[in-house]
Amino acid sequence: MGIGLKSALDINESFIKGEVSAEEVVKVYIKRIYEEDKYGAFLYVDEKKAISKAKLLDEKRKRGEKTGRLAAVPIAVKDNIAVKDMPMTCGSKILKDYISPYDASIIEKIKMEDGIIIGKTNMDEFAMGSSGEYSAFEIIKNPRNMEKSPGGSSGGSAAAVAADLVPLALGTDTGGSVRQPSAFCGVVGFKPGYGQISRYGLAGFSSSLDTVGIVSKKIQDAVLLYNSVYGKDLKDDTSVESRSVSENFLNMKINGGRIFYIREMLQVCNEDVLKLFFKNLELIRSFGIEVKEVSLPLLQYSLPAYLAVSSAEASSNLARYDGIRYGMSIRSDSDLYSIYKKSRSVGLGKEVKKRIILGSYLLWDKEGKKLYERALKVREDIKEAFYTLLKENSGMISPCTSDIAFGLKEKRQALEMYNMDRLTVPVSLAGVPGISVPCGTINGMPLGIQIITAEKNLDFMFRLGLEIEKNVVMYYE
Ligand code: GLN
Repeated sequence: MGIGLKSALDINESFIKGEVSAEEVVKVYIKRIYEEDKYGAFLYVDEKKAISKAKLLDEKRKRGEKTGRLAAVPIAVKDNIAVKDMPMTCGSKILKDYISPYDASIIEKIKMEDGIIIGKTNMDEFAMGSSGEYSAFEIIKNPRNMEKSPGGSSGGSAAAVAADLVPLALGTDTGGSVRQPSAFCGVVGFKPGYGQISRYGLAGFSSSLDTVGIVSKKIQDAVLLYNSVYGKDLKDDTSVESRSVSENFLNMKINGGRIFYIREMLQVCNEDVLKLFFKNLELIRSFGIEVKEVSLPLLQYSLPAYLAVSSAEASSNLARYDGIRYGMSIRSDSDLYSIYKKSRSVGLGKEVKKRIILGSYLLWDKEGKKLYERALKVREDIKEAFYTLLKENSGMISPCTSDIAFGLKEKRQALEMYNMDRLTVPVSLAGVPGISVPCGTINGMPLGIQIITAEKNLDFMFRLGLEIEKNVVMYYE
């Protein structure tokens, strides 16, 4: 097996044993990116820095010093997470020339564990989108089939991992942006519970929903990265003391448990998806896990509630891109208002503007405010329902998406696009952790199964994911 196809954990182990140098690893991946990235997955590759970091690591090992748990592992970072001295465009023209002066907390932790940041991945502008088509720079393609969407908004990270351009990548998930593209590209996508990973250094979209997530080829690699970066961070007040996944989780056995699925979630899925989902349920039952159906009619309001909450927060968060403080500034007229107006008109894309307008209406207009408050109430109710259900059960399960990846540039109504997130959005509103694991293929394209647990049950989530990973064969054409 070439280095380029090894898991992050295997790379780290080979490095520790001295079978491979960090420099060799980095060079293999950089070469792969240069030669194979026909998907528009990367926006930026930092060859020089990655190689010099790798050389330092090789010297450290030669001196017999202990290296970090991510040593020699190349990691790609979604372009809305700050990496010092690298561009951070958020997939937007308005930040085209912006270079981050600091590291996000998660990047600091990765660097402390000797992970090697290899570059920045493409994304839907400001993480708004589900298709990878809303990047201001280049449409992202699905490596399983170039005519298809890789999903979004972390489509670049999912495509990069699926095409073996990197073994691990960071994404962000506000309403499904790590899980959905991972499902579309046939890789693992983990979104932690709200606050489990620090958001410091992430360009905010909807601060009360945003999470930094992990895309990997294998479950064990998601655990490796999560265990290196989780927990309370003094720079992010909303981060929480959380727990790691058991170190020996790979050797743990699943013994029993009870999971539920929600009837209303299945009602929006197509027949092929349902068939594959029920086949997976059979497998899950064979592990001695009891599976039951519950009904939660409230879920029908989750998408409008998500759109209201996230757009309201986006309109406020994105007000900082005003042509004065960050990025693009059009100063053909000297009065301040014209600078704001022109810079934002030219710098921001259509989808982003739509959400800013919607969000401003919800926060400013009297009728809008009423809608916004109702959305907040729906969010609280969904949260409560999930907490109760997850207290009584080991976890929840659903298809991650109602269909497999759709075609790029297919004419779609805005609502159809938003509907892509119906199965991931409720989990974001509830703020609980979720993972998408490849669970089979339909016409040669992957489907993901979504496993949700309470924070304290992360071991169960990853164990169950691992069993599915071991038992399901993915047939790609
Ligand atoms: N696709 C969803 C949206 O457009 C979710 C985005 C996200 O999770 N960042 O809002």
